[in-house]
Amino acid sequence: MGDFPLASPAAPAALDGRRVGERRLRGVVLELVWRHESISRADISRITGRSRSTVSEAVAGLLDTGLIREAGAGRSRGGRRPVILRFRDDARVILGVDIGATHVSVAVTDLRGRVLAWEDRSHDVREDPEGVDALLVALCDRTLAARSPTGSKLMGIGVGMPSPVDPKRPGRMSPRLYPAWRGRDAFGALGTRHGVPVYVDNDANLGAVAEHWWGNATGSDNFMYVKAGSGVGAGIVVDGKVYRGATGVAGEIGHVVVDGSGPPCVCGSRGCLATFVGTRALVARAQSLLQRYPGSALAGTTPLTIADVEAATLAGDPLALAVTHEAARYLGIALAGIINLMNLESIVVGGHLGRLGEHLLVPLRDAALSRTLVGSAASCQITTSQLGPQSVALGAATQVLLGALADPRLFQGATSR
Ligand SMILES: [Zn+2]
Repeated sequence: MGDFPLASPAAPAALDGRRVGERRLRGVVLELVWRHESISRADISRITGRSRSTVSEAVAGLLDTGLIREAGAGRSRGGRRPVILRFRDDARVILGVDIGATHVSVAVTDLRGRVLAWEDRSHDVREDPEGVDALLVALCDRTLAARSPTGSKLMGIGVGMPSPVDPKRPGRMSPRLYPAWRGRDAFGALGTRHGVPVYVDNDANLGAVAEHWWGNATGSDNFMYVKAGSGVGAGIVVDGKVYRGATGVAGEIGHVVVDGSGPPCVCGSRGCLATFVGTRALVARAQSLLQRYPGSALAGTTPLTIADVEAATLAGDPLALAVTHEAARYLGIALAGIINLMNLESIVVGGHLGRLGEHLLVPLRDAALSRTLVGSAASCQITTSQLGPQSVALGAATQVLLGALADPRLFQGATSR
């Protein structure tokens, strides 16, 4: 079993120049069959502008991999009825891993973004990197054992990290945010254990990928996904691609200043968005308002958690609603600046704030759009994610799928476990 260095989608592996044409064509054909789900060689030839024989050669190679199959005859356009090619969504499985500050989740998906198995555990990721390694091994084994129904080969592993990801060192968590992880190259052992490549990316970027392919931003090529959890991050998609910035760490919306005289932040600044809408900030704010709302359902709850604040908001509790409305206002100030700057089609809010639905969206839209130039405001839809807690893991698996569609070699090296 080979060693598989970690990859970041921002720094794809170098291609072998001599075979680039053939490989690219095979990738293009595979992606076409995947997108169309069923298509004939003649249609592929017409779409790609390549000859029938060149296309047939690429198709033959793909049939050998078992990723596509021939599925009977299609409709004739005058002449022989063409053979239809279909993508086999169950030909491989992918592991999608979501590491948060306080949880580890693992999904197994097929090649169409369907979650076949799912495990989620609370864990103190910040302080216990060794425990995370052991938990990951266990959860990956459990989900792979539970997948159904095919027992297909594992193709790759996608990992979402709650930290900016440096494309040159994708396994390194930010030492400022995660001091206990300093110097550790995380997750590489997982790829070696399973004999597959590991793609690492920031969790908010992967949330954006999931929304783009399977969620509210399907069909939207200029949008932003905001993940409001322990930290607050954003995945920005521009012209259909994740925007990464000069060094690969774009999207740190949590450190956009929304009140210059606000509380100090871990980044060294003051009044960052994360100091108002991160989970700790929301729980602390709810606690500080308890005296003002003695009748609140949260009054007798110790220790108070973000789940309590969420549940109370959804139940219409006045204290929890006050906290939510404040958070919406701060988030709205940050979003207004970004809408003005980028003229986005849509913004999808996920993480704990995303679970609050209209309780968040009504004050959020009000706060964001009242500060936005009319033209940009009119075109920007603000919604909450419908993908639920699996979204980052699903995006991580999708990133592997997209990598394999671009370079079908990924489909070939996989071993069965
Ligand atoms: Zn900050």
